[in-house]
Amino acid sequence: ILAAVVLLAGFNTSAQETKTSAEIEEKASDLLSKMTLEEKVGQMTQVTLDVIGEGEDIYSSFEPFNLDKELVRKAVSEYKVGSFLNTANNRALPRQKWHEIISEIQEINSEENELNIPIIYGVDEIHGATYTVGATMFPQQIGQAASRNPELVKKGAEITAYETRASGIPWNFSPVLDLGMDPRFSRMWESFGEDPYLTSVLGVAMIDGYEGEDNNIGDPHHLASTMKHFLGYHAVTSGKDRTPAYIPDDVLREYHLPAFKAAIDAGSHTIMINSGLINGKPVHANYDLLTKLLKEELNFEGLVVTDWADIENLHRRDRVAENDKEAIKMAVNAGIDMSMVPYEYERFVDNLLELVKEGEVKESRIDDAVKRILKVKLALNLFEVPVTHYKDYPKFGSEEFEQEAFNMAAESITLLKNESGVLPLKKDVKVLVTGPNANSMRTLNGAWTYSWQGEKTPEFAADYNTILEAVENKLGKENVIFEAGVNYKNDGKYFEEEDAGIADAVKQAENVDYIFLVLGENSYTEKPGDLNDLYISDLQTKLAKELAATGKPVILILNEGRPRIISKFEQEMQAVVQTYLPGNFGGDALVDILFGDINPSGKLPYTYPRYPNALIPYIHKPSEEQTKAEGVYNYEADFNPQYPFGFGLSYTDFEVSDLQIDKTDITQNDTFTVSVKLSNTGNRSGKEVVEVYSSDLYASEITPDVKRLRKFRKVELAAGETKTIEFSINTSDLASVNPKGETMAEPGEFEISVNNLKKSIHLKE
Ligand code: BGC
Repeated sequence: ILAAVVLLAGFNTSAQETKTSAEIEEKASDLLSKMTLEEKVGQMTQVTLDVIGEGEDIYSSFEPFNLDKELVRKAVSEYKVGSFLNTANNRALPRQKWHEIISEIQEINSEENELNIPIIYGVDEIHGATYTVGATMFPQQIGQAASRNPELVKKGAEITAYETRASGIPWNFSPVLDLGMDPRFSRMWESFGEDPYLTSVLGVAMIDGYEGEDNNIGDPHHLASTMKHFLGYHAVTSGKDRTPAYIPDDVLREYHLPAFKAAIDAGSHTIMINSGLINGKPVHANYDLLTKLLKEELNFEGLVVTDWADIENLHRRDRVAENDKEAIKMAVNAGIDMSMVPYEYERFVDNLLELVKEGEVKESRIDDAVKRILKVKLALNLFEVPVTHYKDYPKFGSEEFEQEAFNMAAESITLLKNESGVLPLKKDVKVLVTGPNANSMRTLNGAWTYSWQGEKTPEFAADYNTILEAVENKLGKENVIFEAGVNYKNDGKYFEEEDAGIADAVKQAENVDYIFLVLGENSYTEKPGDLNDLYISDLQTKLAKELAATGKPVILILNEGRPRIISKFEQEMQAVVQTYLPGNFGGDALVDILFGDINPSGKLPYTYPRYPNALIPYIHKPSEEQTKAEGVYNYEADFNPQYPFGFGLSYTDFEVSDLQIDKTDITQNDTFTVSVKLSNTGNRSGKEVVEVYSSDLYASEITPDVKRLRKFRKVELAAGETKTIEFSINTSDLASVNPKGETMAEPGEFEISVNNLKKSIHLKE
């Protein structure tokens, strides 16, 4: 009762105490010793408001939002449920409403449970506090990766943590540390792109922003992050979501593991598991991956949560368990700590209780799981502050935060082609703005924005500028003609398009100086984003070709979550600009770049393919390079992307020279310094990214990759300025996984390269 009174009175979020890990450990053990088996199993259960609520209809508007208190009471009282996720009817709520809901849940929980273990509430806030009305929306991860700016990534995550806490939510299912190596995969845009090192650096930056560098998540400005989806989730053979991946152990360790390892070392508190299969085996039932690798070898001490319904999927979809009970036994014994059930949670609780009583799941396994959960709750200070209060977060949605989102959009947008320096444009021009993405907030933001598929974005983002609106603001409405040309149908199947007047758009070309052609994709994620053809759609291709045929210069603006193939018309475009999914400020940032107020500095975080049958990332083997052989070989079929990884133009010119390495004979555990001179030889200031690659020339058994990114830095230079850029590299940075599964740099020659400059170093035996 006392707790309930405190709860109603509100919490003083600044009265936080920082617990040491020893204190957390001790308190968790103490609590555990007082818990019944029913209470323990309940802690392992996560349910969703969608399912527990009264049904769809009551959630179609905010007011009244009728949380079904009796259903909540049943869950926390009868079943001792310890965690909730997501939002009702999959839509954003005002932060006041979030506060009310979570307070009510905590209150009911404290009324019903003597031990008063608070509920932990988790939501996918993957590019800003995406489920809160009025929160700051950043570019999606793929765009953030293009910024090559870890400080900005960290800053964005700090703001997201702040605004998520302002919504009363302490747990965020972010970041994605999967490698976006395959553009067929519908969630590529949720990743930091194809490179393991880039993903590690930016993943750690994001976690530092969410959790704070000291991982003090009891600080009400920070929250618990989730590394996901462990492991190899994007590496599916078919390119389709949640389908089988075949990944040999050395490949898993070489490419997919490093970002997770770096994030675990950075202290991330929770991890979510890959919903798919690796080598035929569902990851949720894989003891070797979840316990031996994750918990023992990598020493992960945090909480392991399933992905959506993935325990019952072991039975109902993947058929490795003959019934639900068997599925639960497999998953919990493999190392799962918390089940995102989410349907019919009663079945999960009852079955797990039976399994423990029958000795099929040891109570020691349950204790381990529950202790991990309690430790996260204790670290979050949820016992003292079960729900943070929006009133304590005055900077929510502030201009200061929005400026950061704008900056991130501006640094991510990538200039891919600029024939005869057509860009930047003067401001006294007339333009035609056309294409299905030209006047859409939904496509700027992508999915997981105000709702799962992003379909509710337009109503919530009405205050921000689409690309069309941003162009109108810059040039004056009278200088802008808009014809969509092609539209997404938006009713169910998001990929269906219709001719919305291609002929009208083409006709308007004669009235303008330039055409801004905004192509790409509608928002999507997971299964609804599965695709059979990577070429940009036929209708959009038709629009592009017919506009190009008018002879007016066409600036192609891409707004897409994955590189849709544009080779059928790219050569007819005067300029190409990639915006990715830049968020609410993407339109404004883009237009500042098009008209030269901002100098572009984004770099591709993936290899942009030229053909659907040539999906080869920059990390590949020598046999995938151009053969350049005479005769019957078809060179076109070799590695020959539309634009390479790391590519991105500027309005100024940069030159890299004078590559130096201080030591060329190195030993294991040695550190050496690589330096280059970077000069801005153009006539305006700009930012450039210096990248250091290494190539192991010969390896003992596994063919080495042609090259690997080892370090990078984004540098700002005034016109005419030269800076010396230094990188400290350790031998371990050059390591690869050998057939025994060991990670080490093999003795021999390595080539270090920056742009076209190369130098050899020798690693002694
Ligand atoms: C997704 C996860 C997400 C979870 C909870 C799943 O369908 O795969 O990435 O965190 O839902 O919303």
